Amino acid sequence: MNLNKLLMTTALTASGLILANVQASAQEKTKPEDTEVYSPVPKVVQAKAVTTPAPSDAIVLFDGKDLSQWVSVENRDQPAKWTLGKGVFTVNKKTGGGNIETKQSFLNYQLHIEWQVPANVTGKGQGRGNSGLFLASIGKGDAGYELQILDSYQNDTYTNGQAASIYKQFVPLANPTNKPGEWNSYDIVWTAPTFNADNSVKTPAKVTVLFNGVLVQNNVELKGPTQYIGEPAYRQAHGASPIKLQSHGDPSEPVSFRNIWVREL
Ligand code: MG
Repeated sequence: MNLNKLLMTTALTASGLILANVQASAQEKTKPEDTEVYSPVPKVVQAKAVTTPAPSDAIVLFDGKDLSQWVSVENRDQPAKWTLGKGVFTVNKKTGGGNIETKQSFLNYQLHIEWQVPANVTGKGQGRGNSGLFLASIGKGDAGYELQILDSYQNDTYTNGQAASIYKQFVPLANPTNKPGEWNSYDIVWTAPTFNADNSVKTPAKVTVLFNGVLVQNNVELKGPTQYIGEPAYRQAHGASPIKLQSHGDPSEPVSFRNIWVREL
């Protein structure tokens, strides 16, 4: 290698290292906190859970008796291992229950679900009665579009992460969360995203949510699946998908569910 070549190689290597360092530091700077927002703070509204029985054309996903409509997300051959109680089921964080999702896949739908944070809940912020409803499950773990379930009764957190937020995308329009030990309801209208032949997004997902009968998401257009770190974007085309419930990793007492039904649109 002559001197010129050596100098050029050294310069290229150095610029490569500088570029690598710039990229690494950009990655280091992308933190979960970057996509947390604290305003607006939704106003607290008093409202009771809506307990509509399943209409005659609904697919009942849980009628209080069994978990036959649900499977383990990590292994869809396995039944859902959550805890069945009297007319309710409860997240099982202890024996490897993991997230669960419906056997069936859905595209556009109306969904009703009721959830309850236990009266003896402990913890704070995101570590207090955290679960979640993934409106479309597009893979293992938390892959999908999360409508947050959280004890947001006198429990502050980033507002795009409180109950009925579209997690890290849309702050709810109000906070009608009932206190721990009382039931809450979500009534949801979900429109799945559509995709072009090249897998780019054609029409984004849309959702409307009533929380204890109060409008909290008004036909918002999602920016993509939920992203814990960084900005959401549509990166993967998908069609009909299961509906998923989250077993969150925090140590607080687990959330319970009842009266879940869906009407395909
Ligand atoms: Mg959650």
